[in-house]
Amino acid sequence: MSDTDSDADANSATEPNTLRTPIVAVLGHVDHGKTTLLDKIRGSAVSEGEAGAITQHIGATAVPLETVSEMAGSLVDPDDFDLPGLLFIDTPGHHSFTTLRSRGGALADIAIVVVDVNDGFQPQTIEALDILRRTGTPFVVAANKIDTTPGWNPQEGSPIQKTYDAQSQNASQRLDSNLYEIIGNLSDEGFSADLYWRVQNFQKNVGVVPISAITSEGIPDLLAVLMGLSQRYMKEQMEIDVSGPGAGTVLEVKDERGFGTTLDVVLYDGTVSEDDTIVVGGMDGPIVTDVRALLQPRPNAEIRTEKRFDKVESVTAASGIKIAAPDLELAMAGAPIRVVRDRNLDEVIAEVEAELAEIEVDTEEEGVVVKADTLGSLEAMANALKEAEVPVLRAEVGDIAPRDVAVASTAREDENKVILGFNVDVLPNAKEELEQSDVRLFDDDVIYQLIEEYEEFVEERKRAQQ
Ligand code: GDP
Repeated sequence: MSDTDSDADANSATEPNTLRTPIVAVLGHVDHGKTTLLDKIRGSAVSEGEAGAITQHIGATAVPLETVSEMAGSLVDPDDFDLPGLLFIDTPGHHSFTTLRSRGGALADIAIVVVDVNDGFQPQTIEALDILRRTGTPFVVAANKIDTTPGWNPQEGSPIQKTYDAQSQNASQRLDSNLYEIIGNLSDEGFSADLYWRVQNFQKNVGVVPISAITSEGIPDLLAVLMGLSQRYMKEQMEIDVSGPGAGTVLEVKDERGFGTTLDVVLYDGTVSEDDTIVVGGMDGPIVTDVRALLQPRPNAEIRTEKRFDKVESVTAASGIKIAAPDLELAMAGAPIRVVRDRNLDEVIAEVEAELAEIEVDTEEEGVVVKADTLGSLEAMANALKEAEVPVLRAEVGDIAPRDVAVASTAREDENKVILGFNVDVLPNAKEELEQSDVRLFDDDVIYQLIEEYEEFVEERKRAQQ
């Protein structure tokens, strides 16, 4: 046995916990490059990783430390880290970020806020920062599309600081001023920030990493900052008991041919195994059921082929997994999921209930009706409405039903005879009721736009009354 082996044994003897992979989410304004960045990271992880190193996940991509290190070149020495890598949530955008909660906080441990370096701060950039501030999630800013800066000379494979220092004095002055504008905007939002190589303490200061999601410049630096930040400041948070009952968050509730209703889940603690009893948050309260199958996507499976999934016996945090089980029809995206195992069932149910109840919306006697697709988005809507001083009469998860129209029509003021729908559909029988009522429907899948539309309507009404 080598020295390193005995060291590892000594560690595991004194430390029963295992370190899980930090969960990373990508946020930012539309078209600023979130999807391109994620695709680039995934793509290079697949080509850099040894065969089989990249396990397929549901809803998330796990990049093991060795692969992060290959991608980051000299910037990440695997010997400096004991965290196992990074898990990227596949769906970018703050909608999925707010949907994905865990125990009252955010499911993601770290966020990347992507800002187009030429376009600068936009409404959804500010919205993303609001959400990160509220959830206390540490983040880095990826100042993207530096390749489009006039005069910028891409130097692939070179740390971005070197290229930046070499060029900032001359041709790429524009990049300089754009980056400082972003740093200034962050400061206006209350975050002290700087170019990442000037940041000493990433817990206190936000690092800005100039990148190009197209040429890959700066992506090694971004990965190095994410690894360093999690290793230095988040290690305790990453300690889990792998033998413990699993805890996770439902990403999506989906019908899957051959399996019925299934849950796409990100597991952030413990283990879930076939035949485990689970408790899942549902629209009418907690659902108790037994896992029938745990499914991972088959590598390279064609969408149309029958067998798109492989069954696995168990899965350990942090990972994405699809769970097939009976009675999941009323399960909610964004809801908690818990494995019962040797715990008391009532206790676990109470825990799930408590988590569901956390999402409290202050309602008034007079106000608008709010419907949203997930608990997290309902909460985000409620927060935004509170800030805009819009009173809420009722707030619920789910599509717009006749009952919602009936409730909205009871409002005294016209500006409250309103349903605000976020990312939801109108059920067919509710459409008819809506047409016959004096209730106005506003629907959108961007919170600030939805609220803006409503505020414009209120303004117009006021003007009309004067
Ligand atoms: P998202 O809406 O934030 O997910 O943005 P996308 O990833 O879809 O990117 C929007 C557009 O910007 C696409 O046409 C991308 O090809 C382009 N884009 C993204 N990143 C870069 C970059 O680093 N450089 C350049 N030149 N274009 C980029």
